[in-house]
Amino acid sequence: MATPMVEDKLVLESAETNPFEAMMARFDRAAKLLNLNPDLYAVMRVPNRELKVYIPVRMDSGRIQVFEGYRVQHNFARGPAKGGIRYSPDVTIEEVRALAAWMTWKCAVVNVPFGGAKGGVVCDPWQMSQGELERMTRRYASELIDIIGPEKDVPAPDMNTNEQTMAWIMDTYSMHARHTVNAVVTGKPVDLGGSKGRREATGRGILFVVNEAIKRFKMTPPTTRVVVQGSGNVGGIGAQLMHEAGYKVIAISDVYGGIHSPDGIDIPAALEHLKATRSFEEFPGVESVSNSELLELECDVLVPAATENQIRSDNAERIKCKVLAEGANGPTTAAADAILHRKGIFVIPDILANAGGVTVSYFEWVQDRMGYFWKEDVVNERLQDIMVASFNDLVKYADTHNVDTRTAAYMLAIDRVAYDTRMRGIYA
Ligand code: NAD
Repeated sequence: MATPMVEDKLVLESAETNPFEAMMARFDRAAKLLNLNPDLYAVMRVPNRELKVYIPVRMDSGRIQVFEGYRVQHNFARGPAKGGIRYSPDVTIEEVRALAAWMTWKCAVVNVPFGGAKGGVVCDPWQMSQGELERMTRRYASELIDIIGPEKDVPAPDMNTNEQTMAWIMDTYSMHARHTVNAVVTGKPVDLGGSKGRREATGRGILFVVNEAIKRFKMTPPTTRVVVQGSGNVGGIGAQLMHEAGYKVIAISDVYGGIHSPDGIDIPAALEHLKATRSFEEFPGVESVSNSELLELECDVLVPAATENQIRSDNAERIKCKVLAEGANGPTTAAADAILHRKGIFVIPDILANAGGVTVSYFEWVQDRMGYFWKEDVVNERLQDIMVASFNDLVKYADTHNVDTRTAAYMLAIDRVAYDTRMRGIYA
């Protein structure tokens, strides 16, 4: 029997805190509007496979410690599963499941031929030596060996994992395969089959979609005030690229707080200051703001690029931007969506706004399989083509169906996955 759809109110209440419910709230709303066939609904709302592994690791002390790890493969309808691996004490199967589903919808929104997956290991990487991290990564990779691969599931970095982690996974997989298989992961060092432009891809993707969005308000970069929450790979690089493109970036933050200047901030200098002092404090000519104050600043474009659940039902009313470009995954709760919509804020939802990263990961996988590597200009140009086309597809879809852009993104993604699932048929 088909799974009944969950009542909106119930879902919205727990969706303020539970990432899987937050994702499902959007999924259910879109599925209802699409009048999704109940059999397809039943299949698409659950993951294809969830693997839980126990990872014994010889610690530097000589003792064995056992870590718990997961890999959730949400959907394969459109191609191999794709998604990052995170290391954190807070990793839960619920979170990994939500992130895996998000990857399915994200890949479908930008129309790259992947399904969705995510992995995680419950550990505290800050307390572990490089040797311990390497041994844990290799054993985790070896536990996943039967279910990952260029044609099966292609991991990538996520929270607290990086190029080095990917190189270890690639090497472990290759040792078992008895030959080098660089297409098994993306986000590798460029010398080991990584793609030029991958590091900047998410921030650059945000720039491309914001460029399109401001045209709707007849704004140009020099007249557009931008606020960025977060200054890491997404926020820092996004702010830098927007600054270079002539935008007036008036605020930026890190986990400890931010800086604000209505006249615009010299972003390269501020990031240099952050790098040198590990803080934005004492950067000259600006006022300090807390992360919550920063979100409520008067601006044209707000880019939450730090972490999830930043815009909620308790602060959405005070958000003052015209365009919300979601750099982070899940920065807005499902309950806040309706408030933003009522205020007329144009939302570029996370599954489009931050899809530049997975798009260039797709390019990396293509280049690895061809054994031929592209110039950075080619990568950036192809990224721009995909981000702009996806933005236009989304806006057209929202207009045609008379729905907000977030709902449209989910509807578009679910529609694409549902079509492919229907054409392939359900092997039931
Ligand atoms: P990062 O670790 O490089 O940077 C995170 C930034 O956010 C840092 O400046 C940190 O100080 C700040 N931060 C962390 N917790 C915060 C908090 N509670 N309040 C305010 N600021 C906080 O991470 P990243 O790669 O830039 O990722 C940021 C977000 O973007 C995450 O949600 C991630 O899942 C998402 N994302 C990243 C990529 C990518 O390619 N890196 C792609 C898609 C989505």
